Amino acid sequence: MRRSLSIGRKVKDPNLMSDKGSLVDSFGRVAAKLRISVTDRCNFQCNFCMPVHPVWLPHDEILSFEEITRLSTIFAKMGINKIRLSGGEPTMRKDVEKLVRMLVGVPGIESVNMTTNGFQLVDKAAVLKENGLRGVTVSLHTLKSDRFDEITATRNNFDRVLDGIKKAKEVGLKMKINCVVIKGYNKDEIIDLARLAYEEEITMRFIEFMPFDGKRLWGFERVFGGEGIVREISREYPLSKLSREHGSTAEIYAFTGESKGKIGVITSITAPFCGDCDRVRLKADGKVVPCLFGSEEFDIRPLLRRGDSDKKLEEFVKKSFFQKSSGVETMLKEQVPLMHIRPMYTIGG
Ligand code: SAM
Ligand code: SF4
Repeated sequence: MRRSLSIGRKVKDPNLMSDKGSLVDSFGRVAAKLRISVTDRCNFQCNFCMPVHPVWLPHDEILSFEEITRLSTIFAKMGINKIRLSGGEPTMRKDVEKLVRMLVGVPGIESVNMTTNGFQLVDKAAVLKENGLRGVTVSLHTLKSDRFDEITATRNNFDRVLDGIKKAKEVGLKMKINCVVIKGYNKDEIIDLARLAYEEEITMRFIEFMPFDGKRLWGFERVFGGEGIVREISREYPLSKLSREHGSTAEIYAFTGESKGKIGVITSITAPFCGDCDRVRLKADGKVVPCLFGSEEFDIRPLLRRGDSDKKLEEFVKKSFFQKSSGVETMLKEQVPLMHIRPMYTIGG
């Protein structure tokens, strides 16, 4: 599964990049997808994400819906066409469906999706759909309710999340499931989760454990790689690899059997896709983050709040994105130790 590094040659001057209207980094990668963390708060405390004592952002530091929409409009003018809302838990943000509606109306935005822990879907799926949300990716890391309690540090929410998944499908939201696989923890459930994908005809994406856990428990020895995941599933359910979409984080496989379900592996650690990465992130407090594995963050909130023009904001975003680091693929190749940059709940994955 290992791929060769395909990152372009570094250029020093943003003006030398060919496509000046787009958001381009110094390696020539062009941004098309924006991930927005709408809150860092969460009602779960997943053991691979949250620290024991998370410190939430004060409310006045969190971007308003109007600020997020204004920035999204600026991003869209520079070629962003897809938005994913995440968090923390995005459904914890009051009236998040209103934000969905506002973002769906931004010229150039083709789809708004959400990554969620699924807790609120029973109540919110319909209103999210009505307001234009295209789909949800629900995080579900186990099919055992006692293990679910242990992972999320909550009690008796497993059935509620399953009901939420059902409801979201019923109202017509596109559905994917995310499962973080951790060796010695939930690896024993890969086949059961694949069976769910097969039987329910949904896409189940297995994510390699990344070094962004609040409790800093991550280590290479806990990562179960995508190759092993695919090998394990293939023993029970033969798979055929589909061609990968440009910029996709996942390698997708179809079942060779009758099911329309799919298996995805997000191999951020064993075989990352940095060469055609087309993502840029916006944190809840207004920090622009060009690379998940890079420590660079660029605070656009002061510019927003002192009334800078759209032109100035656009220039700021361009300069920030231009500094996107080459990514984890280069770090692994150069044997740079992977560092814990920020816990996942502060950025949204
Ligand atoms: N609360 C929502 C959820 O759980 O889906 C959205 C935010 S969560 C931070 C975004 C995604 O990151 C989820 O699919 C979650 O499972 C994943 N995630 C969290 N910590 C991770 C880690 N250390 N390694 C890999 N993925 C992680
Ligand atoms: Fe919350 Fe999602 Fe992190 Fe779990 S993974 S603690 S649900 S933000």
